Amino acid sequence: MSPELVFAALGLVLAGALALYPTWQRWRHGRLHRRPFPSAWRKLLRQRFPLYSQLPPPLQQRLQGMVQVMVADVPFVGCQGLSVTDDMRVLVAAQACVLVLERPGGGPPYPGLRQVLLYPGPFVVQAEHHNPGGVISQGREVRLGESWQHGQVVLSWPDALAGAKAGVWGGMVLDPSAHNVVWHEFAHQLDQETGPANGAPALRPGQSQRTWAAVFKREYEDLRWLADAGQPTLIDPYGASAPEEFFAVVTEAFFLHPTSLLDQHPALYGQLQHFYNLSPHAWR
Ligand SMILES: [Zn+2]
Repeated sequence: MSPELVFAALGLVLAGALALYPTWQRWRHGRLHRRPFPSAWRKLLRQRFPLYSQLPPPLQQRLQGMVQVMVADVPFVGCQGLSVTDDMRVLVAAQACVLVLERPGGGPPYPGLRQVLLYPGPFVVQAEHHNPGGVISQGREVRLGESWQHGQVVLSWPDALAGAKAGVWGGMVLDPSAHNVVWHEFAHQLDQETGPANGAPALRPGQSQRTWAAVFKREYEDLRWLADAGQPTLIDPYGASAPEEFFAVVTEAFFLHPTSLLDQHPALYGQLQHFYNLSPHAWR
């Protein structure tokens, strides 16, 4: 066979493989969704992630399928000598997938997610500070998590584990000041799907951009005012630092304290309910 024919044949095979890849991915994900959920994973989620047991059965089943897809698809990388176990993958994936339980499309839970980096504790980063007057300074900062554009999430594993138990469950406040670093960073991932994080993720079909922007602007300004005045707030005052942080912390509050958020910030709750297409206040 002449070299030209060999190249032409190889090109055809490659084009065929590329054309079939989405079909193959759909078939593979369908299989992963239908695969029985390992009983050890179910036990782990019941013990370590109270929200899992509170989910309505159809959502619980969907979450299980999504966890199987994410664990199979996304590399979890241990940093600073941390050796990543299946328990770690499952607990992070289960929390992350809650945000996208009702995402339309049925593809992978986070199509742009390329890897999750896990640290054995809070980690230090070089951060840039934009000071008044336009002066930029560099400094070291301790972080529990980070979300990078182009699909990378970085987490302190002990904090991801602690966050899984945070919130109000069955009327019991497990830790009122608690955070969920996984929800925080994966909210940033959703925001970053449309470019750099700015607190304006792509909304659901039919959701009004104008209403979203008006509600978020008002609530963000209220939080800034209360944070400046040192007043206690249900929403983490860290959200007053930037619109993207506001979106991430209200996502945490939406799943951690849904009933309180609904009572105290009904318009904000309504926007998040529409965006996630979920009603966590009804799961308690
Ligand atoms: Zn953040």
